[in-house]
Amino acid sequence: MPEINLSCACGLVQGKTKNVNAQSGNRIHCCCADCQKFAVFLKQDKKVLDQYGATDIFQMPIAHLTITQGNDQLALIRLTPKGLNRWYAKCCNTPIGNTLGSKTPFIGVIHNFMQHVQSRDQELGKTRGYIHCQSAKQPVSDAQQTSLIKISMRVLGKLISWKLKGLNQPSAFFNANGCAVSKPEILNK
Ligand SMILES: [Zn+2]
Ligand SMILES: [Zn+2]
Repeated sequence: MPEINLSCACGLVQGKTKNVNAQSGNRIHCCCADCQKFAVFLKQDKKVLDQYGATDIFQMPIAHLTITQGNDQLALIRLTPKGLNRWYAKCCNTPIGNTLGSKTPFIGVIHNFMQHVQSRDQELGKTRGYIHCQSAKQPVSDAQQTSLIKISMRVLGKLISWKLKGLNQPSAFFNANGCAVSKPEILNK
């Protein structure tokens, strides 16, 4: 399976993935308002969001993503106190990905952090579809949409198998005690 090189725009944060392909993870386009807010917070919405306001995300086990340099640039925000952990590189505001808590072996990696624009479809498969289309900036055709239930069931199945394999550690984002490596900033207290 291909290793995908990871890098922020300025190159300070670098990493790589292992064991990823279309079957091992889940590529989706999320149109939800929170993903859009995150891109706007970073002032990267033109680079992150497509014409529908969607973020191209690859959901994979957190243990299969390694940060090889620039760990001190990892920064974390939550839109609400209990919201998703949204990670980015503070050197250049490149979005990295979304995680749940430290016990959940999951990260939704945002396309900007993956250095494989030309080979993305080949390495991760085509998107499984657009979700949360009620928040899209323009109508998404039925053919491009996918059902949130279908995607959620697929993710749930993956999560159970990743959990059984203990793929929440090692993690670049949570230490062995389960603490996030960066103090979260809460956008809307
Ligand atoms: Zn950077
Ligand atoms: Zn979203």
